[in-house]
Amino acid sequence: MKSLLGVLFMLMLLFNQNVYTAEGPDRTREDIPEKYKWNLNDLYQDKQAWKDAKTRLTKRIDDFKQFEGKLAESADVLYECLELNTEVIKKYYRLSSYASRLYHQDNRESEPQAMQQSISQLGTKLSAALSFIDPEILAMDKATIKRFLETKPELKTYEHYLQDLQRQKDHTLSKKEEKIISEAGIMSGAASDIYGIFKNADMPRPTIEDKEGQQIRLDDSNYALYRASSDRNMRIKVFDEFFGAYKDFERTFGTQLFSQIKKNMFYKNVRKYDSCLQSALDRNNIPTSVYTGLIDNVNKHLPTLHRYLELRKQMLGVDELHYYDMYPSLVKEVDLSYEVAEAQQLIKNALQTLGDQYVATLDQAFNNRWIDMFPTTGKRSGAYSDGSAYDVHPYILMNYNGQYEDVSTLAHELGHTMHSYFSNKNQHFANAHYPIFLAEVASITNEALLIDHVLDDIDDPETRLSILGSQLETFRTTLFRQTQFAEFELKIHKQAEKGEALTGQKFTDIYLDILKKYYGHELNVTVIDDLYGIEWAYIPHFYYNFYVFQYATSLCAATAVSEKILQEGDSMRQRYINDFLSAGGSDYAIPLLKNIGVDMTANEPFELAMKRMNEIMDEIEAILAERQ
Ligand SMILES: [Zn+2]
Repeated sequence: MKSLLGVLFMLMLLFNQNVYTAEGPDRTREDIPEKYKWNLNDLYQDKQAWKDAKTRLTKRIDDFKQFEGKLAESADVLYECLELNTEVIKKYYRLSSYASRLYHQDNRESEPQAMQQSISQLGTKLSAALSFIDPEILAMDKATIKRFLETKPELKTYEHYLQDLQRQKDHTLSKKEEKIISEAGIMSGAASDIYGIFKNADMPRPTIEDKEGQQIRLDDSNYALYRASSDRNMRIKVFDEFFGAYKDFERTFGTQLFSQIKKNMFYKNVRKYDSCLQSALDRNNIPTSVYTGLIDNVNKHLPTLHRYLELRKQMLGVDELHYYDMYPSLVKEVDLSYEVAEAQQLIKNALQTLGDQYVATLDQAFNNRWIDMFPTTGKRSGAYSDGSAYDVHPYILMNYNGQYEDVSTLAHELGHTMHSYFSNKNQHFANAHYPIFLAEVASITNEALLIDHVLDDIDDPETRLSILGSQLETFRTTLFRQTQFAEFELKIHKQAEKGEALTGQKFTDIYLDILKKYYGHELNVTVIDDLYGIEWAYIPHFYYNFYVFQYATSLCAATAVSEKILQEGDSMRQRYINDFLSAGGSDYAIPLLKNIGVDMTANEPFELAMKRMNEIMDEIEAILAERQ
């Protein structure tokens, strides 16, 4: 499907950014035992086989021409075209997966890079060749689609896709108007492009001196590093200099962000939506009440965040907690280390609660070389799971270093992998891709189950504090901070919709108000210095069009899922595997979650997350009380 290509590119954008460490580890791929390297032969025997497959696929592109302008003629024509579409895109993903895996395992080789480039050219050609399909189906009336579905039962496979297109009908315009809207696309990225280039390349950055007298250029990545300094004076300097630099360009940043909002207003207006929020969420059929409900819930539960902040203040031993005190670690790092075999066993034990079938599939991933485990020279940094090779199996890229964080990351990526594996196995290709709203549910569920299991075995209070503390920080940054961003995003769009002109100063005022509310400035929980109201200018996500709230909703959904699995046992485990992991994108995100008892339109998932957060704090307080 054309829309599936879109989903893939979005995922690539967010999770597959090409980040390579400047100085790689000393080991090369030859130093790593086979069993810890992914087996790309499952995709193609060799590069030649890949090239041949690509040549064959390229020849198929012209086959689409016979269908152009004819989809409404009969159910047979429509079905044949969609089948061809499925076959071609499925093969395209497999080709693309091979090129990406090769490139990511060693970016110093020129051939994989060339392969990737040629694949992306093929993707562009393919998009163009398929671009008639969605509009032609949209132009058909609902009665025709209904009749086609009745006369051609095989078309049922595509029912969700067809009905989803029909659903968007009210917001689709005439052919001529659609043409103009698509032409406007060349202007739509301007604000975001200018923001990116200015911030990442041209903006002057301050320099500070570290303890050893070294000069540090305070760009975004050094800020992320030095804001966690245990030296408070250093942190103050870092915050003041860093945000001071942003403040110097408040007007410029304000104009950029307002331009972005105006872009969203344009699409909302021409597509006849009531609000920018509705226009953004309608693409995935998420009700706006899920978004506003999250904001309401978080506001109601700010005292839970404040409880954490009081705890942070106590553990840091400061009289007054400031915004620059958020990042230093509360406890000293503990040395937990795990060999790969130990990590695998630990993960299997932790996820045994999901049943034998799940664990047997984990074994397949471990034993059949789905995973590229260790960092090597030229390898992409970070970690990801890629389930795009539909009839092969998912692949995981890791940079495993033996820390607890790495074990947790492996469990996280395995969550994605199992979601892809079960969906690909049980759904037709057209319905296999799970909606983006659900993308992080299976992965965070695994992290939660792992923590629960690990804590069962650890008695040492310092180690427990370290694990609990980092889990707590996840709640602050994923649930509260992302919702704080979501609230800001909604507010600035609402102001613009009312016809208000927004400037940098105005953005700062709005942001500062929300920041002070979240951190309890008036209640003397945290002191928020006015300068930090410019933080909005540093956050790139405000150019993602109402995206960030999904980090928070995923955490709530995953907390609810893991709680229910631990409490309800067998019945929930079966529903989770059969009705969620195996369901792919056969329905919209909200009903898919509702099927397994997680209702994102109700308060329950959020309250379970708050319950978990409070339990963690109960235990931390108990450990601290014991210490004294
Ligand atoms: Zn993830």
